[in-house]
Amino acid sequence: MNRDMEQELTYWFVFIGNSIVLECDEKGYHVPCSAEPPFQMKEWTPTQELPPIDHIPCMAYSISMPPSDMKGMQTIGLRESWALLPQAFYNAAGKASELLYWDSNTKYCGMCGAPMKRTTAISKQCTNCGKEVWPQVSPAIIVRIHKGDDILLVHAKNFRRSEMYGLVAGFVETGETLEECVKREVYEEVGLEIENIQYFGSQPWPYPCGIMIGFTANYVGGKLRLQEEELSNANWFNRDNLPPIPDKMSIARRLIDDYIAEKRPIKENSTINSTKLQNNENN
Ligand SMILES: [Zn+2]
Repeated sequence: MNRDMEQELTYWFVFIGNSIVLECDEKGYHVPCSAEPPFQMKEWTPTQELPPIDHIPCMAYSISMPPSDMKGMQTIGLRESWALLPQAFYNAAGKASELLYWDSNTKYCGMCGAPMKRTTAISKQCTNCGKEVWPQVSPAIIVRIHKGDDILLVHAKNFRRSEMYGLVAGFVETGETLEECVKREVYEEVGLEIENIQYFGSQPWPYPCGIMIGFTANYVGGKLRLQEEELSNANWFNRDNLPPIPDKMSIARRLIDDYIAEKRPIKENSTINSTKLQNNENN
């Protein structure tokens, strides 16, 4: 392949609803890479530019129906694509999905109702009143609560697997800090008080436009009481006796895996304490 041809290539992130169209061959699944889009675009098909991957430009667009000739490609749910694509491509697919969602939800100005016009890849401006909009992200917290050597796991009514347990999570409300949100969600969902809220990590969650922000915290008081609209069960579990837990793709699983990998806390009358005592005595 000569250099000119190489420069013409583009990765095409094509969506049909919440699914992405992937090429499938004996090596696995790939985002289609070609000079021309894999399926015809109409004049009015909105396209979305994405940051390049390995210097190859990336474009995204949506089609409403699967074409009659899928050309050896398959539609795969965005969540399912996590297990099939390299991380950089899954991340780009998530970003593409969020931007297409944003684009389709901001066709008209929220102030005056006039059409919005694209000004950059991630901004639009009203053609009448000049109001500007950018993609918005909805933050949600998720928290691993410790009580002694156990952690709290909950079964939410909206979990897709009926036997699965996860962590307390919820959307950040207007005007609150992330820490206030963690405390409020824990109290609302399970009636517990917590302290020592520590940041753990975060993860874009393009379903449709979220970011999950993970924390750990310690139980201080209260009795388990379920918010019945949201949860059907909650309990303390030990790493030796865990129920089915979320898939590897989620930060919930990263938080639980991190707990599983943690060294067990040293019990009372531990070697550290007795060494400390000895040192004190020596001093
Ligand atoms: Zn306007």
